Amino acid sequence: MHEYSGNMHCHSSYSDGHGSHNRIALAALKAGLDFVIVTDHNIYVEGMDGYRFLGDKRILLLTGEEIHDPARIPQKNHLLAYETRQELSPLGVQPQKLINAVRDAGGMAFLAHPIDPAAPSVGEPDLSWVDWNIEGYTGIELWNYLSGFKAIIPTALKKYLFAFFPALGIRGPLPETLALWDRLLKKGKPVIAIGNSDAHEMPIQIGPIHFTLFKYEDLFRAVNTHILTEDPLNGSADHDRKVLFDSLRRGHAFVGYDRPAPTRGFRFTAAGDEETVIMGDRIALGNGITLQVKLPRRANIRLLRDGECIQTWSHHEAAHYTAREAGVYRCEAWLPFLGASRAWVLSNPIYIQT
Ligand SMILES: [Zn+2]
Ligand SMILES: [Zn+2]
Repeated sequence: MHEYSGNMHCHSSYSDGHGSHNRIALAALKAGLDFVIVTDHNIYVEGMDGYRFLGDKRILLLTGEEIHDPARIPQKNHLLAYETRQELSPLGVQPQKLINAVRDAGGMAFLAHPIDPAAPSVGEPDLSWVDWNIEGYTGIELWNYLSGFKAIIPTALKKYLFAFFPALGIRGPLPETLALWDRLLKKGKPVIAIGNSDAHEMPIQIGPIHFTLFKYEDLFRAVNTHILTEDPLNGSADHDRKVLFDSLRRGHAFVGYDRPAPTRGFRFTAAGDEETVIMGDRIALGNGITLQVKLPRRANIRLLRDGECIQTWSHHEAAHYTAREAGVYRCEAWLPFLGASRAWVLSNPIYIQT
């Protein structure tokens, strides 16, 4: 398999971000990403897709859209739409119609920051997903770095500390979002998880002092989505977007927090009598399945079945487990970083079926 890391949720100056597409691409390239998807609020920006270059490095910039109903008070239900290649924001008033339209267009619909707490100390409202009478969406944004920041700033003092050093406070996806994902998976829904920055970059001016918070490049070094593909990218934007999205559609991806240490190289596989599959795939239980976790460095590993932790390994680079029960299996790796245990890798599930 080939592995490509990218960020699938950020905003340019076409909505409430503070950078051009070219500057975002440059920041993502400097952060070591292979692709970046700009998802402006309620506007599909045409004509931006393609590779950008710096020296011998390249980055694929693609356009998605973050759609919601701006007339809804309070605002809720942000949806990330990919590969629609058309404007669908007028449908934001009806989430199910929007999801259907995204799929009809051949795209993918992910619920952005499905749980997103209010942060009164920075004037930010709760932007959670609330209309759960929906079906047919592709997955959820399991880890949104900016939602993580909102969740850790109950006081004005912490606002300033964590605005400059968000990594000090953020420990992983919101536990409520992880529990939500496990509940959805347990119902038999193949819900694909992605992880993103939601970077906007915020220039601040206080009197004569200017500074910038949440810089694109800094956030692109944090939570990313890593996609595993069978074919390599070849530098042709149309070919490569198809390779990436076809693999993501199959759940061949994991969420990596690349700030404590690069997550590139993580693998989660399941081997049966006849085949070996990866994250996102289904496999028949047969006489038992060998699950294998491989990490690029030692970490604390948790293996979960149907949302319950069934085994842990402390300070391991690899782990094996023989599954003798059907279920939805996923794994997490946690690392000590900045004085606390932080989520480092979150796999998509492997579905073992009877
Ligand atoms: Zn949003
Ligand atoms: Zn956003």
